[in-house]
Amino acid sequence: MTRRNHDIAELRRLDVAHHLPAQSSYKLQRDIGGSRIIVRAEGSTIYDGDGNAILDGMAGLWCVDVGYGRAELAEVAREQMLELPFYNTFFRTATPPPIALATKLAGLLGGELQHIFFNSSGSESNDTVFRLVRTYWDIKGEPQRKTFISRRNAYHGSTVASASLGGMSYMHVQGDLPIPGVEHVMQPYWFGDGFGEDPVAFGARAAQDIEDRILAIGPEKIAAFIGEPVQGAGGVIIPPDGYWQQVEAICRKYGILLVLDEVICGFGRLGEWFGFQKFGVTPDIVSMAKGLSSGYLPISATAVSRAIVETLRSVDDDFVHGYTYSGHPVAAAVALRNLEIIEREQLVDRVRSDVGPYFAAALARLAAHPLVGEARSLGLIGAVEIVAEKGTNRRFGGREGMAGPMVRDACIAGGLMVRAVRDSIVMCPPFIITHEEIDRMVAIIAAALDQVAETLRALDLPLLEGAGEGL
Ligand SMILES: *Cc1c(COP(=O)(O)O)cnc(C)c1O
Repeated sequence: MTRRNHDIAELRRLDVAHHLPAQSSYKLQRDIGGSRIIVRAEGSTIYDGDGNAILDGMAGLWCVDVGYGRAELAEVAREQMLELPFYNTFFRTATPPPIALATKLAGLLGGELQHIFFNSSGSESNDTVFRLVRTYWDIKGEPQRKTFISRRNAYHGSTVASASLGGMSYMHVQGDLPIPGVEHVMQPYWFGDGFGEDPVAFGARAAQDIEDRILAIGPEKIAAFIGEPVQGAGGVIIPPDGYWQQVEAICRKYGILLVLDEVICGFGRLGEWFGFQKFGVTPDIVSMAKGLSSGYLPISATAVSRAIVETLRSVDDDFVHGYTYSGHPVAAAVALRNLEIIEREQLVDRVRSDVGPYFAAALARLAAHPLVGEARSLGLIGAVEIVAEKGTNRRFGGREGMAGPMVRDACIAGGLMVRAVRDSIVMCPPFIITHEEIDRMVAIIAAALDQVAETLRALDLPLLEGAGEGL
């Protein structure tokens, strides 16, 4: 493959002059003279314009599960583009790839989840959930069931409805969100909100908060509960044992739909095809995106139960929702081939019985570091909590979220791409990551912690009591 030469200084200048990147401070973008430019990638490594090789501990943005450089995904896209680059699914038409992909997904999901609605992003999938669930209850003759229950610090996307479903208070500030009809309850974040408590008892208390809210509002008004099996962007929050069973039981007790946002967890991240299989629950609706195409093209999917489809089919009306690119043939063809790669290379098994346990053992070594309050993982997603005082969840003062970004920046400078969520470092590497690369990840994080420890201790800051609320 020919490698293009880029004029990086010019690109960074033009980035400031004309480009507004996502979820960014435009002041900072300007002050640092433009974004870091990533020019190519292979396997689990990305390369920036200055020639630095950076191990990608985030799989792009929780999505490049099969790793970079998969020529067959490019070939399948090329073939589909030449045969039929686009046709819509609006007017009683469809194309072969989305039908094939829906069939494939129905097989992987199993049970009652046999119908798939396509969109192009996780946010759009959750917007689909929003309108579909309310339409479902209207048809069922329970139009008063309009309220969604979600959790604080949940991430469901960035559109008006999906950011409202999400529980990021810092996102709600912009655009006057949430929109009416979304209630946010406790998250099962033991390290932040239940420290010192028995974890299972804490999980039960978090689930109970859902039931309490249902009763406070009136069960007959609640449409659905939505949650990520493991919260990703909120800081890799792994719920205590028993939590999901209790949540499912509460939903069933009051006839409320259970919606799982599997945008990160789906397709093997937790060592099972889906998070709901890992936790042993049966959702009515599942949102999928990211790993569906390993990020090679934008596509998302909303799976719904047979009972919901039967209700929608009990009326003549159209479901007047959908996007120009719903079921885009090229994106669907690439997603289908991506799933074939995951199956052929047995990557779900690899996460469950090889790299997942290896990752957990490597993180356990980090847990001994004086700055680490907890190192947790499930499958191939994990987090390291940075604390000021070992054995507590107290944070380095000044403000919460001070130490995290410092450690993140030291990791990137050391050759590892990770994200900071408040005072934790989160990781979500590609499924093809090797043992040597996992060892390298942990060594870079340990070195970054050492470096930041010195800086922070020299500042002699007051300590903050732990708090788990989203930024
Ligand atoms: C990323 C994410 C979304 C939003 O997906 P986009 O493709 O960015 O719109 C929704 N839910 C979860 C759990 C996510 O991680």
